[in-house]
Amino acid sequence: MTEPTREGGCLCGAVRFEITLPSKWCAHCHCSMCRRAHGAGIVTWVGMQEDRVRIVQGQEHLVRYASSPQAWRGFCGRCGSTMLFASERWPGEVHVALACLDGELDRAPMAHVYYDVRVPWLDVVDHLVKLGGESGTQPLPASGGPDRG
Ligand SMILES: [Zn+2]
Ligand SMILES: [Zn+2]
Repeated sequence: MTEPTREGGCLCGAVRFEITLPSKWCAHCHCSMCRRAHGAGIVTWVGMQEDRVRIVQGQEHLVRYASSPQAWRGFCGRCGSTMLFASERWPGEVHVALACLDGELDRAPMAHVYYDVRVPWLDVVDHLVKLGGESGTQPLPASGGPDRG
């Protein structure tokens, strides 16, 4: 039995990867490191079992930047697209930037993480669970409205 796969890659096309479904989770991350790494207000990540992510082209262009002592971010050395993330915090997982994926994922985003450190210039109006705190994934105190208090 063959499991469904999806392909993805960077802006210039040098680096191509393939993921084998199912994914484990999908979430919007608001943390400052993701924001800076991607130049974006949020980054939507797909959690994958490590052995379900394969670089199919341009391995030599994939640069791994150690964004912290226990984590790396994988980007294309030619065009700069940031595509991958892995950390000792999530052993055995590689996180794939959903925006770099071609075609549809097997699930919709499930949550917002690091929501309490989000930027003030992006309005989030969906009904997904909002998590934050030290780990970025803890329940946040219920908020009465859109203001940050
Ligand atoms: Zn590229
Ligand atoms: Zn993040």
